[in-house]
Amino acid sequence: MKIRIIGGGPAGLCFAALMKRDDPAHDVVIYERGPRDATWGFGVVFSDRALEFLRADDEAMYLLLSPHMETWPNLTIVHNDTRIPITGNGFAAIGRLQLLSLLYVHAEQLGVRIEFDRAIESFSDRERLGDADLIVCANGASPVLRQANELRFGTSCDWRPNKFIWYGTSRVFDSLSLTFRETDHGVFCAHHYRYSPSRSTFLVEVEEETWKRADFEHMSPESTIAHCERVFAKDLSGHPILSNNSHWRNFPMIWNERWSFDNVVLVGDALRTAHFSIGSGTRLAMEDAIALWKAFREKHSVPEALARFRELRLHPMKKIWDAANVSARWYERMGENMKLDPVEFAYSYMTRTGRVNHAEVRRRDPNLAAAYEKLHPEASAA
Ligand SMILES: Cc1cc2nc3c(=O)[nH]c(=O)nc-3n(C[C@H](O)[C@H](O)[C@H](O)COP(=O)(O)OP(=O)(O)OC[C@H]3O[C@@H](n4cnc5c(N)ncnc54)[C@H](O)[C@@H]3O)c2cc1C
Repeated sequence: MKIRIIGGGPAGLCFAALMKRDDPAHDVVIYERGPRDATWGFGVVFSDRALEFLRADDEAMYLLLSPHMETWPNLTIVHNDTRIPITGNGFAAIGRLQLLSLLYVHAEQLGVRIEFDRAIESFSDRERLGDADLIVCANGASPVLRQANELRFGTSCDWRPNKFIWYGTSRVFDSLSLTFRETDHGVFCAHHYRYSPSRSTFLVEVEEETWKRADFEHMSPESTIAHCERVFAKDLSGHPILSNNSHWRNFPMIWNERWSFDNVVLVGDALRTAHFSIGSGTRLAMEDAIALWKAFREKHSVPEALARFRELRLHPMKKIWDAANVSARWYERMGENMKLDPVEFAYSYMTRTGRVNHAEVRRRDPNLAAAYEKLHPEASAA
């Protein structure tokens, strides 16, 4: 089969590698608009059981990536100066560039060709896609292709009001931390965690009103960094905030009613985005790739396989997508939430998506459950 993939992110790379591994006769090319040695952002975190989802279907990829993951068992919520460690939440993280670099080599060793610095602007690019049996649109949340094909896919894109900026820092944190600090302009939140022995992600998120009051719109990149360094001075302990072409963005909640037309199929963020606060976007993208590959193992024609892909994937993916959207909205009320007592605040964070109930909080962290029950004795009946 002649397979052409637009976008060399986790979704495209994972699908390419699986297809080529199973049948080296497939002709698989990935077109990636970026260069080989650069990407946006810093590290990405995998929640729950890290890369376990990969193990059964691609043990080689699992074994390749696992040694490069930073792992830790706990989460820390910082409510101004009160630190609340929460046990029972395993996480793992890896630098995005490192993840991609490992996947490039893995896919290439299997015989996938990756053309870097090659953007595809349209599905009717005859020269590159003209005679493909299957075109996989794995170009992330980019509006290129999405906007021109909205009607075909039934795409909706809901731009959320919060502003975020994806920074890094040389401070190495010992757990995944969410730090919330009240300032004269409003509440600032940093999502921060180590993703290599010498680097951490430091993603700053604020409500729109806070962003406006701080006048970030008119601030230079240097002054923006200096402002965030002042807000989080106690957390950074003198370490600098690092930029990677970082700028304020709004999160697009993307959804597509239809996942394919003709021989074109969407996977990863192109199919749907999942807010970064639940640490699942990369996993979902790779799980899409696995489901699409499984669909092609079961069905022998492209239309049948694309229909099967949706059947296999819709339900499990939608559950996480819904949780991610609820989580995003919790951050949109962070100013209100900060009025809670620190224990209530941490509890509210833990239970924000509705997937963790009181019994589960008690199982993960009996101390947090007990502290919450002191404030709300009625909860102990749960
Ligand atoms: C601020 C932020 C923080 C995040 N943190 C986490 C996290 O901690 N954990 C997590 O699991 N997920 C996180 N995510 C989500 C995660 O990055 C995405 O869900 C994941 O990268 C999706 O993979 P993908 O392969 O679908 O798309 P992408 O990783 O976006 O890859 C798409 C690729 O397509 C290329 N491309 C785009 N347009 C074209 C074109 N026209 N032609 C050719 N190539 C093109 C791009 O250059 C890119 O390399 C975060 C996202 C953001 C925005």
